[in-house]
Amino acid sequence: MKSFKETTGQVHSVETFGTVDGPGIRYILFLAGCPLRCIYCHNSDTWDYTIGETRTVSEVFEDLLRYKAYYDRAGGGITLSGGEPTLQPYFLAELFQRCQIEGIHTCLDTSGFCDLEKAQLFLPHTNLVLLDLKHMDGPRHQEITGVLPDKTFAFAHYLAEKKIPTWIRYVLVPGYTDATEDIEKLCLFVKKLNNVERITFLPFHQLGSAKRKTLNIADPLQDLQSPSKESIEIARNIARKHNLVT
Ligand code: SF4
Repeated sequence: MKSFKETTGQVHSVETFGTVDGPGIRYILFLAGCPLRCIYCHNSDTWDYTIGETRTVSEVFEDLLRYKAYYDRAGGGITLSGGEPTLQPYFLAELFQRCQIEGIHTCLDTSGFCDLEKAQLFLPHTNLVLLDLKHMDGPRHQEITGVLPDKTFAFAHYLAEKKIPTWIRYVLVPGYTDATEDIEKLCLFVKKLNNVERITFLPFHQLGSAKRKTLNIADPLQDLQSPSKESIEIARNIARKHNLVT
């Protein structure tokens, strides 16, 4: 039976064998709700905060414990993703705290669109942040995501101040985010942070387009191709020049 006092979260879905959202093999919890509207989002079915199931911290934690030995062996842990998981800061903080007490590595996959006073709740219990930077230019960021980047930039600086290990992820969208000057600006920003362990360029792909169609979401990228291997290499070379990739 659920306790009245227990913190609950709105959970969209769970993946028990995640291999791309943090180190090792991971329990990926996708939380419902996102304030952004990225034009290339492949999880647009998570945008609505009311979908999914309401679950207590204990319910999630006990489910996770069933696989713990497996994640331990594989150097993994738990990743909270979404949607935007920082929209549920109390649930996030409590769950991560319990995980860390149990020796489970905690990772947060976020756009960084988060109030800093809320971040203070969960960052002390976060081992690693996967921070998605979408664009360094304000108006372009707004065009791509629906919001300005100020909160994300403040969050990135706060992570650096708190020395939280961070991996940066940046989606290369041809014609939107892949200009040389875009990548230069990104690298100059990242270079100033002292906590970034890696930067990864993710190619735009059409995997989210079917969901957008089903949900009747406008899709300005419906005819766009993924970036070529060469353009990914160009981005990596710029980052290499800044000593951000090997
Ligand atoms: S922040 Fe993530 S979940 Fe939200 S719209 Fe952007 S890509 Fe989708």
